[in-house]
Amino acid sequence: MNPVKNLQDKIAFVQGGSRGIGAAIVKRLASEGAAVAFTYQSSTVAAEKIVSEIVGAGGNAIAIQADSANPELLQQAIRQATEHFGGLDILVNNAGILPWGPLEELTLAQIDLTLAINVRSVIIASQEATRHMRAGGRIINIGSINADRTPIAGGAVYAMSKASLVGFTKGLARDLGPRSITVNNVQPGPVETDMNPASSETAAQLKKLMALGRYGKDSEIASFVAYLAGPEAAYITGASLSIDGGFSA
Ligand code: NDP
Repeated sequence: MNPVKNLQDKIAFVQGGSRGIGAAIVKRLASEGAAVAFTYQSSTVAAEKIVSEIVGAGGNAIAIQADSANPELLQQAIRQATEHFGGLDILVNNAGILPWGPLEELTLAQIDLTLAINVRSVIIASQEATRHMRAGGRIINIGSINADRTPIAGGAVYAMSKASLVGFTKGLARDLGPRSITVNNVQPGPVETDMNPASSETAAQLKKLMALGRYGKDSEIASFVAYLAGPEAAYITGASLSIDGGFSA
């Protein structure tokens, strides 16, 4: 476990925490002392493994199967987590999908699902969370640097879905400022996960566009999220913050 316990006595809910960046965030928040509830869609084995690792190390975590595209299940999951741990301080909206290809080839079902998971779930989870969140809380969205820069064709709908979080983050920061709840949008550049393997042909193109010439690690995004969730970030709100290895430099 992390010796720095910045999040002791805090309760966190991570939407989409079984793999990739979300899993790294769950582990990092737990290692800093937070009790963490997280959702997943289908990776039950991976989710249970994360819970047992955290509990085995003396932490506190539960996994809830809840499809982020289903507003009722998502609301129910947040209520379940809040009742289980007795409150809510931190919401991380991480669940996301990456539809890829020329716009004319995307199906209506792919477009609807992208909007339901990447956009609507952020609104629904934030709405439900703010009904329970204590003063000094944190809402952290996982957007994408593609909101600002989309150098390869095929990502128009994804880029739009992530760009929408920039405006939502600003508006919600205004709503929740009086309650000392901050709202921020983390915009990672390419990070090695199942969604974006660092060894693909596209990855080789992307690396050439980055000042650091390499993909990010999920742990690097998680440590930034933990900082935003912690007490030292109390004056940061309404911001979209890039962590992209110089992708947009
Ligand atoms: P992965 O595909 O590796 O992991 C996605 C996670 O979200 C999994 O835990 C998955 O659960 C969960 N999830 C997906 N859909 C749903 C759903 N409908 N309901 C509940 N949970 C769901 O993605 P990454 O870790 O790469 O990406 C995480 C976030 O970061 C996304 O929002 C993505 O857009 C963003 N991002 C990623 C970048 C990258 O390069 N990797 C760069 C910039 C932003 P399950 O395991 O059950 O499927």
